[in-house]
Amino acid sequence: MDKLMHSVYLDKDKCLGCTTCLRSCPTGAIRVREGKAKIIESKCIDCGECIRVCPHHAKMAKTDPLSKIKDYKYTVAIPAPTLLGQFKMKYSIDRILSALKSLGFDEIVEVAFGAEIIGRAIKYEFTAKHYPKPMISSACPAVAKLIQVRFPELTGNINRLKAPMGLTARITRKRLIESKNLKSEDIGIFFITPCAAKATEVSNPLPSDDLFSTIDGAIAIKDIYAPLMGAMKTVEVEDGIHNSSAEGFSWAVSGGESSYLKNKKVLHVDGISNVIKVLEEIENGKLDNIDFFEGLACIGGCVGGCLTVENNFVAKMYIEERAKLERMDSHKHLEEAYIKNLYNTGMMHQKEKLVPRGPKPLDEDMGEAIKKMHAIEELEAKLPGLDCGSCGAPGCRALAEDIVMGNAREIDCVFVLKDRVLELSKLTSELLQVGHPMKNKNENNEETEEEK
Ligand code: SF4
Ligand code: SF4
Repeated sequence: MDKLMHSVYLDKDKCLGCTTCLRSCPTGAIRVREGKAKIIESKCIDCGECIRVCPHHAKMAKTDPLSKIKDYKYTVAIPAPTLLGQFKMKYSIDRILSALKSLGFDEIVEVAFGAEIIGRAIKYEFTAKHYPKPMISSACPAVAKLIQVRFPELTGNINRLKAPMGLTARITRKRLIESKNLKSEDIGIFFITPCAAKATEVSNPLPSDDLFSTIDGAIAIKDIYAPLMGAMKTVEVEDGIHNSSAEGFSWAVSGGESSYLKNKKVLHVDGISNVIKVLEEIENGKLDNIDFFEGLACIGGCVGGCLTVENNFVAKMYIEERAKLERMDSHKHLEEAYIKNLYNTGMMHQKEKLVPRGPKPLDEDMGEAIKKMHAIEELEAKLPGLDCGSCGAPGCRALAEDIVMGNAREIDCVFVLKDRVLELSKLTSELLQVGHPMKNKNENNEETEEEK
C-alpha cells in the first residue's frame, strides 16, 4: 500500500450522490458536489462510518492484498484480536492461527500479546507522567484523530503509549533481527486489520516512530476471511501457536483495555456518536472525576470494525466465550518484571506528542478572517436552518462556510433556489403583463394610435 494520509476513498463510478454518507460523517468531512461525494482530507478521521452506511458500496478502504507477502523473505502475520471473533467456537484459536499461517506466513504473533503488555503498563503511565484528567486511551486511531480535529483542547489527555499493533511489530522485528540474523528489509510484518483507521496508521505512522515498529502492510479481515475459512477445514493444527492471554485478546471488545485498571475510575464507551457525547462532557469539565476514558469508534469495540465479516454482537459473544474458557488457563500471563523492564526502556512510547488538527483559519489575515466569520453568520441566518443536506453540505452552517470560502453557491440550497425561481417567474409574468415599453412606438419614436 502506498503511503496514504487516509485509507478511506471513493469509487466515483459507484457513487450516486445520494448524500447518505454526508449525514453520517462525525466530522463533517464529506460534501456532495456535481452528483458525487468528496472527502475533505483535513477533516477525515478514517472512522469508516461512510463505508458502513453507503448503500452503493462506493466508499472503501485501501488495504494490501495477501500477495504482497511474496515481496519479503520472512513474513509475520500480526492479527488483531478481533480475528478470533469472526469464527464459531467449534474452531479453536490454535486452528484459526494455524490456518492463517498456512496462507503463506512464516510466523504468527498475536497483537493480543502487545495488548497485554500495554494494558498492564497503563498503571505505570499513571505514576510516571502527568496527564489532565481523564487520561484518554490512545488505542483507537479514529478516536485520537477525532480529538485532534473536533476536540483539539483534549489532545494532551491522550496517553502516549503505542498501540498494541506497533509494540507487537517492534518486539517481533527486533527479535527476528537478533535471533534469526535477518535484515530488517527482509522481514515483512503484516497487520490483519479490522478497520480503515488502523490501515491508515500502518501506512502513515507518526513521523518520529522508530523503524523497528514499522509494519509493512495491512490486510483486511474481510479479504482474508474466505481463504482462511477454506484453510481451517484441512490445516494441520499447530499446538501452542496461540500464546496470548484472554485479557490481551479481550481488547477486541469495549472495556477490554480498561479492565486492567482495577483501582481506577474508568469509563469505556463505544460507537462514534456516543464517544462524541462523552468527549463533549470532558471538554466541558464535567468528567474530571474519571481517571481513564477508553473510547472506541466502532459499536461494540473493534469487533464492529468496518473491515470485519461477522456481526459485531455475535463476534463480541465469541470473544467473551473464548476469554471465559481461557481465563482458567492463566499460565500465559507475562511476568510483571518483563513488563516493567520494557516500560522503563521507553520503547512503549510514541516519541512525538499528538498535536491538534483543528479547522484551518478562515483567512491568514485576522481582519479578513473576522469579516468572513460575520459573512458566514449573516448567510447562515438567511438559510432555512433545516440541515437537510440537499445542498451537498452536512448542514446550513457548513454550506454558509463553503459559500464564503468560495466552494459553493447560495443557490445550492434548494430553498434559496426555489425562492429565486419564484421571484424570477413573478418578474417574468409582470413583464409580460406590462408589455415592452418600445413595443407601441413607431420608427420616429412617436406614439402609435393604439397608445394615444
Ligand atoms: S452514500 Fe455517499 S458515497 Fe455512497 S452513493 Fe451516497 S453520496 Fe455516494
Ligand atoms: S474501534 Fe477498533 S476497529 Fe473501530 S476504528 Fe477504532 S481501532 Fe478501528
